[in-house]
Order: sequence, then structure tokens, then C-alpha cells
Amino acid sequence: MNGCIFCKIVSGDIPSYKVYETEGTLAILDINPVAKGHVLVIPKGSSSSNIFDISAAEWAAVMETVRIVAIALEKALDADGVNLIMNNREHAGQVIFHPHVHLVPRFKGDGLKHWPPGKYVQGEAVAVKEKIRSVLIG
Ligand code: AMP
Repeated sequence: MNGCIFCKIVSGDIPSYKVYETEGTLAILDINPVAKGHVLVIPKGSSSSNIFDISAAEWAAVMETVRIVAIALEKALDADGVNLIMNNREHAGQVIFHPHVHLVPRFKGDGLKHWPPGKYVQGEAVAVKEKIRSVLIG
């Protein structure tokens, strides 16, 4: 945990490069960008940590800001695409425990790699699918 840097950015206690703002969300430049124009969209509320406890309303607001900023990023930077990424919990790579979605502008030939593709063995996909569905629909 880190004392919620993003809460301090929302309150103005530490500076940020703000690119967009709505009543409930803030979009800022990531200070250590994967690519120039790497943006983080965060909810202004401080009561949640990640996808597991953010409210449906806050999440909807974050997603709408993500959509708007993604379109603007591609246009402003003449990008060839945008990746959306969200790290949820420590072992998924989350370092700051205030919800945030990364928007990474992508350029043809930029060399950034996706995670490596895996494979299911015979019957495994069905078993995994059933496991997930049993939580979702019982
Ligand atoms: P995550 O691993 O998803 O929790 O990502 C946290 C992100 O926050 C990293 O990409 C950091 O570079 C970024 N970051 C950390 N401190 C700041 C800051 N003060 N302003 C903007 N971005 C930050």
C-alpha cells in the first residue's frame, strides 16, 4: 500500500498532468509511460481499491471517460490503436490501490509485446468455462 497517491492527485495535494476531467473521474498522464501519451483514468472517489470493490456507477463513469479519452488519444497522437489495461490486486501487477485503467497508445512497429498465448488441453476449456459459469449463474 502507498497512502493512495491518486487520492492526493484528486485532492490537488500532489501535481499531475491532467488531460481530461468529469464530475466523477480524472484522466492524467502516467508519470512513467509505456508509450508517450500513456494515460490513467481514475475515479475521484477514494472508497475503492480496484475492480473488486468499485461501485457500478463509478465504474460506468470511468469507462465512459476511458472511451472518450481513447478516441482523443488516437486522434491527437495519430496512433494506430490503444490498449486498455487494468491491474487488479498485487499479483496482477497492481501497485497503486486506487482503481485505474491504463490507456496505452500504440503505433505500428512500436515493438510492445502482448502476453504470450497459451493453450487448453483436451476438455480443459469446458471445465474452466463451467467453473466460471457456476459462480456467475449458479
Ligand atoms: P499499477 O501497476 O496498475 O498500479 O500502475 C500504477 C501506475 O501509476 C504506474 O504505471 C505508475 O507509473 C503510475 N504512477 C505512479 N505515480 C504516479 C503519479 N504521481 N502520477 C502519474 N502516474 C503515476
